Amino acid sequence: MAQKDIKINIIGAGVSGLAAAITLKKAGYHAQIFEQSDAVGGRIKTTNHGSMKLDHGFQVLLDQYPAAQEFLDLETLSLIKFSPASIIFINGKKHVIGDAQRDMSFAWSTIIAGVGSVNDKWKVFTLSRKLKQKNLTDIFNSPETTTLKYLQDYGFSQKMIDCFFKPFYTGIFLETQLQTSSRMFEFVFKMFSEGNATIPAGGIKAIPEQMARQLDGQIQLNTAVKEIVADTIQLANGDNLKSDYTIIATPAEVLVPNLPKSNKPWHSVQTLYFDTDDHGFDQPIIGLIAGDDCLSNNFHFLNDVFENHPKVISVSVVAKHHLTKDQLEERVRKELIEQANIKAGDLIKMMEIKKALPTFDSIQYAMNPTETQLTQNIFLAGDQLSNGSLNAAMLNGKAAAQAVISNIENGIFV
Ligand SMILES: Cc1cc2nc3c(=O)[nH]c(=O)nc-3n(C[C@H](O)[C@H](O)[C@H](O)COP(=O)(O)OP(=O)(O)OC[C@H]3O[C@@H](n4cnc5c(N)ncnc54)[C@H](O)[C@@H]3O)c2cc1C
Repeated sequence: MAQKDIKINIIGAGVSGLAAAITLKKAGYHAQIFEQSDAVGGRIKTTNHGSMKLDHGFQVLLDQYPAAQEFLDLETLSLIKFSPASIIFINGKKHVIGDAQRDMSFAWSTIIAGVGSVNDKWKVFTLSRKLKQKNLTDIFNSPETTTLKYLQDYGFSQKMIDCFFKPFYTGIFLETQLQTSSRMFEFVFKMFSEGNATIPAGGIKAIPEQMARQLDGQIQLNTAVKEIVADTIQLANGDNLKSDYTIIATPAEVLVPNLPKSNKPWHSVQTLYFDTDDHGFDQPIIGLIAGDDCLSNNFHFLNDVFENHPKVISVSVVAKHHLTKDQLEERVRKELIEQANIKAGDLIKMMEIKKALPTFDSIQYAMNPTETQLTQNIFLAGDQLSNGSLNAAMLNGKAAAQAVISNIENGIFV
Protein backbone atom coordinates (compact mmCIF):
# COMPACT_ATOMS: atom_id res chain seq x y z
CA MET A 1 0.00 0.00 0.00
CA ALA A 2 1.32 3.45 -0.92
CA GLN A 3 2.23 5.72 1.98
CA LYS A 4 -0.57 8.13 1.07
CA ASP A 5 -3.20 5.38 1.28
CA ILE A 6 -2.40 4.42 4.86
CA LYS A 7 -5.17 5.75 7.08
CA ILE A 8 -3.82 7.22 10.31
CA ASN A 9 -6.22 9.00 12.66
CA ILE A 10 -5.64 10.84 15.90
CA ILE A 11 -8.28 11.48 18.54
CA GLY A 12 -7.82 14.80 20.36
CA ALA A 13 -6.21 18.08 19.30
CA GLY A 14 -4.50 18.79 22.62
CA VAL A 15 -0.75 19.31 22.43
CA SER A 16 -0.22 15.55 22.55
CA GLY A 17 -2.36 14.83 19.49
CA LEU A 18 -0.82 17.82 17.70
CA ALA A 19 2.72 16.61 18.47
CA ALA A 20 1.79 13.16 17.12
CA ALA A 21 0.49 14.65 13.85
CA ILE A 22 3.56 16.88 13.45
CA THR A 23 5.89 13.91 14.01
CA LEU A 24 4.03 11.88 11.40
CA LYS A 25 4.01 14.77 8.95
CA LYS A 26 7.78 15.26 9.29
CA ALA A 27 8.20 11.57 8.43
CA GLY A 28 6.00 11.94 5.34
CA TYR A 29 2.73 10.51 6.71
CA HIS A 30 -0.64 12.22 6.74
CA ALA A 31 -2.82 11.90 9.83
CA GLN A 32 -6.32 13.21 10.37
CA ILE A 33 -7.17 14.63 13.83
CA PHE A 34 -10.69 14.46 15.26
CA GLU A 35 -11.40 16.97 18.02
CA GLN A 36 -14.71 17.08 19.86
CA SER A 37 -14.54 20.76 20.83
CA ASP A 38 -14.53 23.85 18.64
CA ALA A 39 -10.83 24.67 19.12
CA VAL A 40 -7.41 23.08 19.31
CA GLY A 41 -5.46 22.97 22.58
CA GLY A 42 -7.48 20.76 24.93
CA ARG A 43 -6.61 21.90 28.44
CA ILE A 44 -4.68 24.87 27.04
CA LYS A 45 -7.23 27.58 26.45
CA THR A 46 -7.39 31.37 26.50
CA THR A 47 -10.62 33.33 26.29
CA ASN A 48 -10.35 36.79 24.78
CA HIS A 49 -12.69 38.87 26.92
CA GLY A 50 -12.74 42.30 25.29
CA SER A 51 -9.08 43.28 25.32
CA MET A 52 -8.30 40.83 28.14
CA LYS A 53 -6.54 37.51 27.77
CA LEU A 54 -7.99 35.09 30.29
CA ASP A 55 -6.21 31.72 30.38
CA HIS A 56 -8.26 28.77 31.63
CA GLY A 57 -6.22 28.23 34.75
CA PHE A 58 -2.81 29.77 35.30
CA GLN A 59 -0.24 27.76 33.45
CA VAL A 60 3.25 28.48 32.23
CA LEU A 61 5.56 27.07 29.61
CA LEU A 62 8.96 26.24 31.08
CA ASP A 63 11.16 27.22 28.17
CA GLN A 64 13.77 24.57 28.98
CA TYR A 65 11.31 21.71 28.44
CA PRO A 66 13.04 19.54 25.83
CA ALA A 67 9.72 19.12 24.00
CA ALA A 68 9.18 22.89 23.84
CA GLN A 69 12.52 23.27 22.13
CA GLU A 70 11.58 20.52 19.68
CA PHE A 71 7.96 21.33 18.79
CA LEU A 72 7.69 25.10 19.21
CA ASP A 73 9.24 28.11 17.59
CA LEU A 74 9.86 29.88 20.89
CA GLU A 75 10.95 33.11 19.25
CA THR A 76 7.74 33.54 17.28
CA LEU A 77 5.70 32.90 20.44
CA SER A 78 7.27 36.09 21.91
CA LEU A 79 7.51 34.51 25.34
CA ILE A 80 7.11 36.79 28.32
CA LYS A 81 9.36 35.65 31.14
CA PHE A 82 8.32 35.68 34.77
CA SER A 83 11.00 36.99 37.12
CA PRO A 84 12.91 34.16 38.79
CA ALA A 85 11.36 35.11 42.12
CA SER A 86 8.16 35.10 44.15
CA ILE A 87 6.59 37.67 46.40
CA ILE A 88 5.22 35.83 49.42
CA PHE A 89 2.56 37.34 51.66
CA ILE A 90 2.23 35.88 55.13
CA ASN A 91 -0.38 37.39 57.43
CA GLY A 92 0.08 40.86 55.98
CA LYS A 93 3.88 40.75 55.67
CA LYS A 94 5.65 40.76 52.31
CA HIS A 95 8.78 38.69 51.59
CA VAL A 96 10.65 38.44 48.29
CA ILE A 97 12.61 35.29 47.54
CA GLY A 98 14.40 34.82 44.24
CA ASP A 99 17.15 33.08 42.36
CA ALA A 100 20.12 35.38 42.96
CA GLN A 101 22.26 33.25 40.64
CA ARG A 102 20.16 34.59 37.76
CA ASP A 103 19.19 37.99 39.08
CA MET A 104 21.47 39.49 41.70
CA SER A 105 18.86 42.11 42.57
CA PHE A 106 17.04 39.39 44.55
CA ALA A 107 20.08 38.48 46.68
CA TRP A 108 19.49 40.73 49.66
CA SER A 109 15.69 40.36 49.82
CA THR A 110 16.14 36.58 49.69
CA ILE A 111 18.66 36.54 52.53
CA ILE A 112 16.45 38.62 54.81
CA ALA A 113 13.10 37.06 53.77
CA GLY A 114 11.40 35.69 56.87
CA VAL A 115 10.42 32.43 55.24
CA GLY A 116 13.25 30.25 56.50
CA SER A 117 16.77 30.34 57.90
CA VAL A 118 19.98 31.31 56.08
CA ASN A 119 20.73 27.58 56.10
CA ASP A 120 17.45 26.94 54.20
CA LYS A 121 18.40 29.46 51.57
CA TRP A 122 21.86 27.95 51.23
CA LYS A 123 20.19 24.59 50.74
CA VAL A 124 18.05 26.01 47.91
CA PHE A 125 21.31 27.02 46.25
CA THR A 126 22.95 23.60 46.73
CA LEU A 127 19.81 21.80 45.54
CA SER A 128 19.73 23.92 42.43
CA ARG A 129 23.40 23.14 41.74
CA LYS A 130 22.82 19.42 42.36
CA LEU A 131 19.80 19.23 40.05
CA LYS A 132 21.49 21.16 37.27
CA GLN A 133 24.08 18.38 37.22
CA LYS A 134 21.55 15.54 37.42
CA ASN A 135 20.29 14.51 34.00
CA LEU A 136 16.65 13.75 33.24
CA THR A 137 17.23 10.00 32.99
CA ASP A 138 18.74 9.93 36.47
CA ILE A 139 15.91 12.06 37.87
CA PHE A 140 13.26 9.71 36.50
CA ASN A 141 15.18 6.61 37.62
CA SER A 142 15.55 7.89 41.18
CA PRO A 143 13.56 6.23 43.95
CA GLU A 144 10.24 7.99 44.43
CA THR A 145 8.91 9.50 47.58
CA THR A 146 6.58 12.42 48.17
CA THR A 147 7.89 15.93 47.58
CA LEU A 148 7.22 16.69 51.27
CA LYS A 149 9.40 13.81 52.47
CA TYR A 150 12.07 14.70 49.92
CA LEU A 151 12.27 18.26 51.23
CA GLN A 152 12.32 17.10 54.84
CA ASP A 153 15.06 14.57 54.07
CA TYR A 154 17.07 17.26 52.32
CA GLY A 155 17.03 19.15 55.61
CA PHE A 156 14.70 22.08 54.90
CA SER A 157 13.04 23.52 58.00
CA GLN A 158 9.28 23.24 58.49
CA LYS A 159 9.05 27.00 58.18
CA MET A 160 10.74 27.01 54.76
CA ILE A 161 8.47 24.19 53.62
CA ASP A 162 5.29 25.88 54.88
CA CYS A 163 6.14 29.40 53.80
CA PHE A 164 7.82 28.78 50.45
CA PHE A 165 7.74 25.25 49.04
CA LYS A 166 4.09 24.52 49.93
CA PRO A 167 2.57 27.65 48.40
CA PHE A 168 4.89 27.61 45.38
CA TYR A 169 4.45 23.94 44.47
CA THR A 170 0.73 23.90 45.34
CA GLY A 171 0.29 26.17 42.34
CA ILE A 172 2.26 23.78 40.13
CA PHE A 173 1.11 20.38 41.37
CA LEU A 174 -2.45 21.60 42.05
CA GLU A 175 -2.50 19.79 45.41
CA THR A 176 -1.79 21.33 48.79
CA GLN A 177 0.08 18.61 50.68
CA LEU A 178 3.19 18.13 48.49
CA GLN A 179 2.20 14.50 47.92
CA THR A 180 3.33 14.61 44.28
CA SER A 181 6.29 12.43 43.35
CA SER A 182 9.76 13.69 44.24
CA ARG A 183 10.75 12.91 40.63
CA MET A 184 8.31 15.57 39.45
CA PHE A 185 9.67 17.97 42.05
CA GLU A 186 13.25 17.42 40.87
CA PHE A 187 12.22 17.79 37.22
CA VAL A 188 10.28 21.01 37.74
CA PHE A 189 12.91 22.49 40.08
CA LYS A 190 15.59 21.73 37.47
CA MET A 191 13.53 23.35 34.70
CA PHE A 192 12.98 26.46 36.85
CA SER A 193 16.71 26.62 37.72
CA GLU A 194 17.86 26.29 34.13
CA GLY A 195 15.24 28.36 32.34
CA ASN A 196 12.22 30.58 32.66
CA ALA A 197 8.55 30.28 33.41
CA THR A 198 6.92 31.99 30.44
CA ILE A 199 3.61 32.86 28.81
CA PRO A 200 3.34 33.63 25.09
CA ALA A 201 2.41 37.24 24.32
CA GLY A 202 -0.83 35.92 22.82
CA GLY A 203 -1.82 33.97 25.93
CA ILE A 204 -1.23 30.28 26.61
CA LYS A 205 -3.42 29.18 23.66
CA ALA A 206 -0.77 30.53 21.28
CA ILE A 207 1.11 27.27 21.95
CA PRO A 208 -1.40 24.81 20.41
CA GLU A 209 -2.34 27.36 17.76
CA GLN A 210 1.27 27.53 16.60
CA MET A 211 1.42 23.72 16.48
CA ALA A 212 -1.86 23.55 14.55
CA ARG A 213 -0.53 25.94 11.91
CA GLN A 214 1.99 23.26 10.93
CA LEU A 215 -0.90 20.95 10.05
CA ASP A 216 -2.97 22.58 7.35
CA GLY A 217 -6.30 20.90 6.77
CA GLN A 218 -5.62 17.94 9.04
CA ILE A 219 -7.81 18.90 11.99
CA GLN A 220 -11.55 18.29 12.05
CA LEU A 221 -13.10 20.26 14.92
CA ASN A 222 -16.55 19.65 16.47
CA THR A 223 -16.17 15.95 15.72
CA ALA A 224 -16.49 13.68 18.74
CA VAL A 225 -15.43 10.05 18.56
CA LYS A 226 -17.72 7.61 20.32
CA GLU A 227 -15.91 4.29 20.15
CA ILE A 228 -12.86 2.61 18.65
CA VAL A 229 -12.85 -1.11 17.95
CA ALA A 230 -9.90 -2.62 16.09
CA ASP A 231 -9.65 -0.72 12.78
CA THR A 232 -12.99 1.07 13.04
CA ILE A 233 -13.65 4.49 14.52
CA GLN A 234 -17.25 5.30 15.27
CA LEU A 235 -18.02 9.01 15.39
CA ALA A 236 -20.67 10.41 17.71
CA ASN A 237 -22.80 11.23 14.65
CA GLY A 238 -22.92 7.50 13.87
CA ASP A 239 -20.47 7.47 10.94
CA ASN A 240 -17.93 4.65 10.84
CA LEU A 241 -14.43 5.19 9.48
CA LYS A 242 -11.73 2.70 8.61
CA SER A 243 -8.46 3.47 10.39
CA ASP A 244 -5.29 1.45 9.89
CA TYR A 245 -3.65 3.18 12.84
CA THR A 246 -5.41 5.21 15.53
CA ILE A 247 -3.62 7.31 18.13
CA ILE A 248 -5.85 8.12 21.10
CA ALA A 249 -4.43 11.32 22.60
CA THR A 250 -6.83 11.47 25.55
CA PRO A 251 -7.70 8.84 28.20
CA ALA A 252 -8.62 5.78 26.12
CA GLU A 253 -10.82 3.97 28.63
CA VAL A 254 -13.94 5.85 27.55
CA LEU A 255 -13.38 5.06 23.89
CA VAL A 256 -12.11 1.49 23.80
CA PRO A 257 -14.54 -1.14 25.14
CA ASN A 258 -13.34 -3.43 27.92
CA LEU A 259 -10.39 -1.32 29.02
CA PRO A 260 -10.13 -1.18 32.81
CA LYS A 261 -11.56 2.11 34.06
CA SER A 262 -9.16 4.25 36.03
CA ASN A 263 -10.69 5.54 39.23
CA LYS A 264 -7.85 7.96 39.81
CA PRO A 265 -9.01 11.43 40.81
CA TRP A 266 -7.75 14.47 38.91
CA HIS A 267 -6.40 17.60 40.53
CA SER A 268 -8.57 20.64 40.04
CA VAL A 269 -8.20 24.39 40.34
CA GLN A 270 -10.38 27.50 40.35
CA THR A 271 -9.19 30.72 38.79
CA LEU A 272 -10.74 34.08 39.60
CA TYR A 273 -10.13 37.20 37.53
CA PHE A 274 -10.84 40.56 39.16
CA ASP A 275 -10.38 44.03 37.85
CA THR A 276 -8.32 46.20 40.15
CA ASP A 277 -6.98 49.72 40.57
CA ASP A 278 -3.74 48.28 41.90
CA HIS A 279 -1.00 48.92 39.35
CA GLY A 280 0.73 45.60 40.06
CA PHE A 281 4.41 44.84 40.64
CA ASP A 282 5.86 46.50 37.51
CA GLN A 283 7.30 43.16 36.41
CA PRO A 284 5.79 39.74 35.69
CA ILE A 285 6.16 37.97 39.01
CA ILE A 286 4.24 35.33 40.91
CA GLY A 287 2.64 36.35 44.18
CA LEU A 288 1.99 33.69 46.81
CA ILE A 289 -0.40 33.84 49.74
CA ALA A 290 0.94 31.72 52.58
CA GLY A 291 -1.14 33.08 55.44
CA ASP A 292 -2.87 30.70 57.86
CA ASP A 293 -5.91 28.91 56.41
CA CYS A 294 -6.00 30.97 53.23
CA LEU A 295 -7.73 29.51 50.17
CA SER A 296 -6.00 31.83 47.70
CA ASN A 297 -2.76 30.29 46.50
CA ASN A 298 -0.93 32.21 43.78
CA PHE A 299 -1.74 35.38 41.88
CA HIS A 300 -0.31 37.66 39.25
CA PHE A 301 -1.29 40.86 37.48
CA LEU A 302 -2.10 40.44 33.79
CA ASN A 303 -1.03 44.05 33.20
CA ASP A 304 2.45 43.07 34.48
CA VAL A 305 2.60 40.28 31.91
CA PHE A 306 0.90 41.55 28.75
CA GLU A 307 1.61 44.92 27.16
CA ASN A 308 -1.27 47.41 27.25
CA HIS A 309 -3.49 44.98 29.14
CA PRO A 310 -6.23 46.33 31.41
CA LYS A 311 -5.47 46.05 35.13
CA VAL A 312 -6.57 42.54 36.05
CA ILE A 313 -5.49 40.21 38.82
CA SER A 314 -5.66 36.43 38.41
CA VAL A 315 -5.92 34.32 41.58
CA SER A 316 -5.70 30.51 41.78
CA VAL A 317 -7.52 28.50 44.44
CA VAL A 318 -6.33 24.92 44.82
CA ALA A 319 -7.43 23.95 48.34
CA LYS A 320 -10.70 22.02 48.67
CA HIS A 321 -13.61 23.96 50.16
CA HIS A 322 -17.40 23.95 50.33
CA LEU A 323 -18.03 27.59 49.52
CA THR A 324 -20.52 28.74 46.92
CA LYS A 325 -19.18 30.86 44.07
CA ASP A 326 -20.34 34.06 45.79
CA GLN A 327 -18.75 33.02 49.09
CA LEU A 328 -15.49 32.12 47.35
CA GLU A 329 -15.38 35.45 45.56
CA GLU A 330 -15.80 37.30 48.86
CA ARG A 331 -13.25 35.08 50.62
CA VAL A 332 -10.58 35.67 47.96
CA ARG A 333 -11.30 39.40 47.95
CA LYS A 334 -10.86 39.47 51.77
CA GLU A 335 -7.65 37.46 51.65
CA LEU A 336 -6.14 39.73 49.00
CA ILE A 337 -6.73 42.83 51.10
CA GLU A 338 -5.79 41.30 54.46
CA GLN A 339 -2.76 39.36 53.29
CA ALA A 340 -1.39 41.48 50.47
CA ASN A 341 -3.12 44.84 50.77
CA ILE A 342 -4.50 44.45 47.24
CA LYS A 343 -8.00 45.69 46.59
CA ALA A 344 -9.84 43.53 44.08
CA GLY A 345 -12.62 45.23 42.11
CA ASP A 346 -15.40 43.49 40.18
CA LEU A 347 -15.15 39.81 39.45
CA ILE A 348 -14.62 39.46 35.70
CA LYS A 349 -14.74 35.68 35.52
CA MET A 350 -14.46 32.59 37.71
CA MET A 351 -13.31 29.39 36.03
CA GLU A 352 -13.28 25.92 37.51
CA ILE A 353 -11.07 23.34 35.85
CA LYS A 354 -12.16 20.06 37.37
CA LYS A 355 -9.81 17.82 35.39
CA ALA A 356 -6.65 19.89 35.31
CA LEU A 357 -3.86 17.44 36.14
CA PRO A 358 -3.95 13.64 36.23
CA THR A 359 -2.71 11.85 39.36
CA PHE A 360 -0.24 8.97 39.44
CA ASP A 361 1.07 6.23 41.71
CA SER A 362 4.40 6.53 39.98
CA ILE A 363 5.55 8.90 37.28
CA GLN A 364 7.79 8.51 34.28
CA TYR A 365 9.47 11.07 32.06
CA ALA A 366 7.69 9.93 28.90
CA MET A 367 6.60 6.73 27.17
CA ASN A 368 8.89 4.68 24.97
CA PRO A 369 7.34 4.19 21.53
CA THR A 370 6.78 0.46 22.12
CA GLU A 371 4.90 1.16 25.36
CA THR A 372 2.28 3.22 23.50
CA GLN A 373 0.89 0.31 21.47
CA LEU A 374 -2.40 -0.98 22.92
CA THR A 375 -3.51 -3.30 20.12
CA GLN A 376 -2.50 -3.98 16.54
CA ASN A 377 -4.27 -0.79 15.39
CA ILE A 378 -4.47 1.39 18.48
CA PHE A 379 -1.77 3.54 20.09
CA LEU A 380 -1.96 5.78 23.15
CA ALA A 381 -0.76 9.30 23.87
CA GLY A 382 -1.53 12.12 26.33
CA ASP A 383 0.08 13.43 29.52
CA GLN A 384 -1.95 11.04 31.68
CA LEU A 385 0.39 8.21 30.65
CA SER A 386 3.48 9.57 32.39
CA ASN A 387 3.26 12.96 34.12
CA GLY A 388 1.06 16.04 34.01
CA SER A 389 3.06 18.49 31.93
CA LEU A 390 3.17 19.99 28.47
CA ASN A 391 6.53 18.29 28.09
CA ALA A 392 5.17 14.80 28.72
CA ALA A 393 2.04 15.42 26.63
CA MET A 394 4.12 16.40 23.58
CA LEU A 395 6.70 13.64 24.05
CA ASN A 396 4.01 10.98 24.42
CA GLY A 397 2.38 12.19 21.21
CA LYS A 398 5.73 11.90 19.49
CA ALA A 399 6.32 8.40 20.94
CA ALA A 400 2.95 7.14 19.68
CA ALA A 401 3.68 8.55 16.22
CA GLN A 402 7.11 6.90 16.20
CA ALA A 403 5.51 3.58 17.12
CA VAL A 404 3.06 3.89 14.22
CA ILE A 405 5.91 4.76 11.84
CA SER A 406 8.01 1.83 12.98
CA ASN A 407 5.05 -0.55 12.61
CA ILE A 408 4.57 0.63 9.05
CA GLU A 409 8.24 0.69 8.11
CA ASN A 410 9.06 -2.64 9.71
CA GLY A 411 6.33 -4.25 7.68
CA ILE A 412 3.94 -4.77 10.58
CA PHE A 413 1.42 -2.98 8.43
CA VAL A 414 -2.05 -4.27 9.22
C1 LIG B 1 -5.07 24.71 35.04
C2 LIG B 1 -3.92 23.94 34.47
C3 LIG B 1 -2.62 24.32 34.77
C4 LIG B 1 -1.54 23.64 34.21
N1 LIG B 1 -0.28 24.11 34.43
C5 LIG B 1 0.72 23.60 33.69
C6 LIG B 1 1.99 24.23 33.70
O1 LIG B 1 2.18 25.30 34.31
N2 LIG B 1 3.00 23.66 32.97
C7 LIG B 1 2.81 22.50 32.28
O2 LIG B 1 3.75 22.00 31.66
N3 LIG B 1 1.60 21.89 32.25
C8 LIG B 1 0.56 22.42 32.92
N4 LIG B 1 -0.67 21.86 32.83
C9 LIG B 1 -0.82 20.56 32.14
C10 LIG B 1 -0.93 20.68 30.63
O3 LIG B 1 -1.88 21.64 30.26
C11 LIG B 1 -1.34 19.30 30.11
O4 LIG B 1 -0.33 18.38 30.49
C12 LIG B 1 -1.50 19.23 28.60
O5 LIG B 1 -2.24 20.29 28.10
C13 LIG B 1 -2.18 17.90 28.26
O6 LIG B 1 -2.29 17.79 26.86
P1 LIG B 1 -2.95 16.49 26.22
O7 LIG B 1 -2.96 16.71 24.76
O8 LIG B 1 -2.29 15.28 26.78
O9 LIG B 1 -4.45 16.43 26.78
P2 LIG B 1 -5.68 17.42 26.58
O10 LIG B 1 -5.21 18.82 26.54
O11 LIG B 1 -6.66 17.06 27.62
O12 LIG B 1 -6.25 17.08 25.13
C14 LIG B 1 -7.13 16.03 24.86
C15 LIG B 1 -8.03 16.47 23.71
O13 LIG B 1 -8.82 15.36 23.31
C16 LIG B 1 -10.12 15.83 23.02
N5 LIG B 1 -11.04 14.69 23.16
C17 LIG B 1 -11.31 13.98 24.28
N6 LIG B 1 -12.21 13.03 24.03
C18 LIG B 1 -12.51 13.12 22.72
C19 LIG B 1 -13.41 12.40 21.85
N7 LIG B 1 -14.17 11.40 22.30
N8 LIG B 1 -13.48 12.76 20.56
C20 LIG B 1 -12.71 13.79 20.07
N9 LIG B 1 -11.88 14.51 20.85
C21 LIG B 1 -11.78 14.17 22.15
C22 LIG B 1 -10.35 16.90 24.06
O14 LIG B 1 -11.40 17.78 23.72
C23 LIG B 1 -8.99 17.58 24.08
O15 LIG B 1 -8.91 18.62 23.15
C24 LIG B 1 -1.78 22.51 33.38
C25 LIG B 1 -3.08 22.12 33.10
C26 LIG B 1 -4.15 22.85 33.60
C27 LIG B 1 -5.53 22.47 33.19
